[in-house]
Amino acid sequence: MRALADLHNHSCLSPCASLEESPSLLARLARERGLGFVALTDHNSALNCPAFDEACRREGLAPLFGIEACSVEEVHVLCIFGRVEPALDFGLRLRSALIPLPYDPEKLGDQVVVDADEEVLELVDFYLGAALILGFDEICAEAAERGALVIPAHVDRPMFSVSSQLGFLPPGPYDAVESMREPAPELRGGHTAISGSDAHYPEHVARRPFAVELPDGASELRGDSLLEALRASLRAGLVRPSWGGQA
Ligand SMILES: [Zn+2]
Ligand SMILES: [Zn+2]
Repeated sequence: MRALADLHNHSCLSPCASLEESPSLLARLARERGLGFVALTDHNSALNCPAFDEACRREGLAPLFGIEACSVEEVHVLCIFGRVEPALDFGLRLRSALIPLPYDPEKLGDQVVVDADEEVLELVDFYLGAALILGFDEICAEAAERGALVIPAHVDRPMFSVSSQLGFLPPGPYDAVESMREPAPELRGGHTAISGSDAHYPEHVARRPFAVELPDGASELRGDSLLEALRASLRAGLVRPSWGGQA
């Protein structure tokens, strides 16, 4: 079977995302716009994943639970799990590596934890967009060890990417790389390249998904079996990215 997947989406927990972008709105728009497999990947935190899980259940969507981690070199990497618990555990681990910088919501935006009915549960009072005190290689190794899909984010973007911060893609346990356009060979490193919406606003949802070939019946898979089916298809290169669109 072929489906549309999008592994890079933010919610109202990310300081730079729209307050409107609740996990439930993300799930509803993803379904309306034809996505089958969708990951929530807020900056350095998985606290909205429980709401996203419930919202996707209501919409009949297959959810994945991630974090877009920001390394000490300010490189972004998507770490994506099949279940909520390991995502929350990894979030706790990253929290211990996040310096609690003074945070001004007026300037940087609120960071809101909600439930699937958009009730506010918590306002996070330390800045989630900061760099972790963990190297890019350390984050990738630890996420892989914990069973996550590891996907360096927007590798060809002029900020927060392996190309802008490191100048190249170091060897690592990657399942794919995400890029805005067909990446140069040195940024691809022999890995499968995918597109991703990096949605921060409702209008961004499903702007750059990728088509993926999965075994028949995969739309019924959830949790770790879904994650492993997706990993196998990514590693085998059974994808068709949608390059272009807005940056
Ligand atoms: Zn990013
Ligand atoms: Zn992002």
